[in-house]
Amino acid sequence: MQEEVKSLRTDFPGTCALEIYGRSEWGRPLYALRIGDSSRGKNVLFQGAIHGREYITARLLLALGRQWLTKQRPKAMCLHILPMTNPDGVVLCQQGRPHWKANARSVDLNRNFPAGWKTLPRTAAPAAKGYKGPFPCSEEESAALALYTLRFPFWATVSYHASGSVIYWEYGQKQPVNALSKELALSVVRATGYPLAGATGLDAGGYKDWAIEALEIPSLTIEVGRGRAPFLDHEFEEILQRNRHVPDAVARWMHSR
Ligand SMILES: [Zn+2]
Repeated sequence: MQEEVKSLRTDFPGTCALEIYGRSEWGRPLYALRIGDSSRGKNVLFQGAIHGREYITARLLLALGRQWLTKQRPKAMCLHILPMTNPDGVVLCQQGRPHWKANARSVDLNRNFPAGWKTLPRTAAPAAKGYKGPFPCSEEESAALALYTLRFPFWATVSYHASGSVIYWEYGQKQPVNALSKELALSVVRATGYPLAGATGLDAGGYKDWAIEALEIPSLTIEVGRGRAPFLDHEFEEILQRNRHVPDAVARWMHSR
């Protein structure tokens, strides 16, 4: 992942900026790639691998980034790619805990954001998945992602997860942002063939939930693949094929607004 992040910057000097926007609990760098002019373009944030075992989404995001850099891009959009929100969790998964989702302190980062956080079970203890943490954004990774999100006027956020092959698009009671989020989701449905999924039964405290409710940014969670992550390498090509037009779909939606 780090090699590809660095070679994207070297291969496309001047078009692709690389920033370390924070450090994980165990000190690993958190990378953001910026493609486009953040002060003039409409900013969009893509993030992946907030759950350790879903690291195929980091590979997917870097492949989408390389593809976006290689072709003619609409100047009106600035794409921010944060490929791996939870690098410690990825390493834990790859080094012997195959179904690990949490970060190094056993907090599930996607239940650690201040959106309905209090409604989540209080008693859950540190674990490989599902523990919401001692307070919202208690973790280096979730705090860094929240601060990064607040730095730019984002038009949309897209979180990649695995698996299920569906798109989640709503949270809470704010109808205007949920309506916009649904329009964005429908644009991605047309590009991927993934169906929309309802919010019933979903946990709160996710990054997308916070972006929708607190910041009123239209936001999606795209679940790639089927079965239980992590996925095998040979499944990657199919996932990439299905998602290759997602940045265009987001750009089209923004253009129509
Ligand atoms: Zn996930």
